[in-house]
Amino acid sequence: MITNSTVLVADDSLVIRAVVRAGLEDAGYTVVEADDGPAAIAWCRTCPPDVILLDIEMPGLDGHEVLAALKSDETTRDVPVVFLTGRTGMDDLVSGMHGGAHDYLRKPFEPPELLARVSAAVHVKKLQDQLRRRNAELERLSRTDLLTGLFNRRHMEEQLTSCHSLAVRHGEPMALVLFDIDHFKTVNDTYGHAVGDLVLQDFSRRVAEALRQEDVAARWGGEEFLVLLPLTDITGAAEFAERVRSSVAAAPVVAGGHRVQVTLSGGCALGPGDGVDAVLSHADQRLYEAKRLGRNRIVASS
Ligand code: GH3
Ligand code: MG
Ligand code: MG
Ligand code: MG
Repeated sequence: MITNSTVLVADDSLVIRAVVRAGLEDAGYTVVEADDGPAAIAWCRTCPPDVILLDIEMPGLDGHEVLAALKSDETTRDVPVVFLTGRTGMDDLVSGMHGGAHDYLRKPFEPPELLARVSAAVHVKKLQDQLRRRNAELERLSRTDLLTGLFNRRHMEEQLTSCHSLAVRHGEPMALVLFDIDHFKTVNDTYGHAVGDLVLQDFSRRVAEALRQEDVAARWGGEEFLVLLPLTDITGAAEFAERVRSSVAAAPVVAGGHRVQVTLSGGCALGPGDGVDAVLSHADQRLYEAKRLGRNRIVASS
């Protein structure tokens, strides 16, 4: 049987570790060992196993203390713990299960039972991991604009709020750039909606390439894009916006056999000012000003 799963055997008895290791390896598990509580915790932190078989009576920290330490640490919380102990009292079992143990097995154990319990614990762990990955993917999708791959408005609104609070608390600047593609309706009308979509994707790629790690770019509306630049003053924001504008103006998008040259206008605003809405409104006014002045330009001051 090939399981691909790793079991940590934490027990101060060399004999027990050897017997358990032999049985698990025969069944296809990879086995690692710890001979006391602190070593078991260190293993789980550096390379979390799929299951830990945990003795209770050990020097250093006993099994209950190890369990408590694992459950209180986010990186080790999800490793299923199966107690494997010579203690036969009901109190130990009950407190172990209350402490978050997955299962409890008494020494001396029957090897087939040990394998069955380890296999059940691994199965539960795999299901949990799968669920966590799916949730993370759903969470990512709920923040992503599907056409462009940039963040969506919902994510940006949250980022604006948190970035704004940080800027106020630390007395740091934050900047916004609002871009709008010029005469985009004409692109759709001339080449069709599908080509319009490709232009939006191409534009988004150029914005993404111009970002620093800490910047956030989102599709704010149809052909409007908002970029949040933390710790950036108005000059930095204007330079960023100009880089994107000139990159878009420099080369047409090749889409659906057409060469489509678009331009864009942008408005920059500096925060934290009088709040997120006020900064947004400034960016919007400057975008409007850029349109009024003839488009294909960035406006960064009133
Ligand atoms: P302006 O320079 O004043 O911004 O002119 P405009 O034509 O860009 O502005 P307007 O607001 O009149 O039109 C925006 C167009 O963007 C109309 C709408 O159909 C198009 N649009 C919005 N979202 C999408 C989309 O997802 N795909 C495509 N292809 N077009 C879109
Ligand atoms: Mg022991
Ligand atoms: Mg628009
Ligand atoms: Mg437009």
